[in-house]
Amino acid sequence: MNRDRTAKFLAYEGKVSVICSKTTDLIEYIRNLHDLTPTTTAALGRFATISGIMGHTEIKEEEDSITIQFNGKGPAGIMLAVVEKEANQVFVKACIDNPGVELPLKSNGKIDVSGAVGTSGYLNIIKENGITEKEYNGIVPLVSGEIAEDFASYFARSKQTPTVLALGVLVNKDGVKASGGYMISLMPDATENEITKIEEAIEKAPTISEMLDTEKSLEEIAKIITGDERLQLIEDNLIIGYRCDCSKEKFARGLTSLGKEEIKNIIEEDGKAEAKCHFCNKIYTFSKEELEALLK
Ligand SMILES: [Zn+2]
Repeated sequence: MNRDRTAKFLAYEGKVSVICSKTTDLIEYIRNLHDLTPTTTAALGRFATISGIMGHTEIKEEEDSITIQFNGKGPAGIMLAVVEKEANQVFVKACIDNPGVELPLKSNGKIDVSGAVGTSGYLNIIKENGITEKEYNGIVPLVSGEIAEDFASYFARSKQTPTVLALGVLVNKDGVKASGGYMISLMPDATENEITKIEEAIEKAPTISEMLDTEKSLEEIAKIITGDERLQLIEDNLIIGYRCDCSKEKFARGLTSLGKEEIKNIIEEDGKAEAKCHFCNKIYTFSKEELEALLK
């Protein structure tokens, strides 16, 4: 049974919008799929959670997709996600170059996410429309390598509205105990008083993973982080799932793009080709005959 859930709320008479997401089952699925360590579970878990949330806040048309690359030049390498949406369902696929990287806890007892993914690179977000082929490309330097701050800096540049973002993954050697995130967006008519109330509420609130681990509902969490007891639920049961849509045809197109010479080399040297999908680990094998067919 999938216990994950994502919901949108409006606080302070519509002047503040909130999206809260519980992604525990999704991140446990990704941990198993990629055989992640606790450190890379926290890193890719935070990254996949915000990617899924962005599917619900940024994708307006079903033909749209978002590709997100987090390249901090750390030992765990690049994290990559592709996000698509159909009605109320967002589908994420995500991978990390070196899933086996594990680092000691930081002196404050927290997982060293920035140590694993690095801090000296950039976050690149590409929005594409499958029909019009219109593309938007946004790139920001990383701020901390802790993921939430890095995406917040992207939102600060790309959006007109101030945004607060929190992401958290609670993981031990047995698996993901709790995972999720929230995003608060302040509309231009939010008052100073309301902004102060939200700042104080966030200051007092436990972390998002602690709140989810203690079985707080998304409504309760939204009230705790905004300080507005009368906030309204706008959309319920939004879904963030995992899906990889790879196929032998797509990999064949990839091979074809290598050019005839390269394919001839593969045939001569190996007699076959093997390609692995980094998002779902499926392996596609191309026989000598299939490779020769690609040459035509
Ligand atoms: Zn795949």
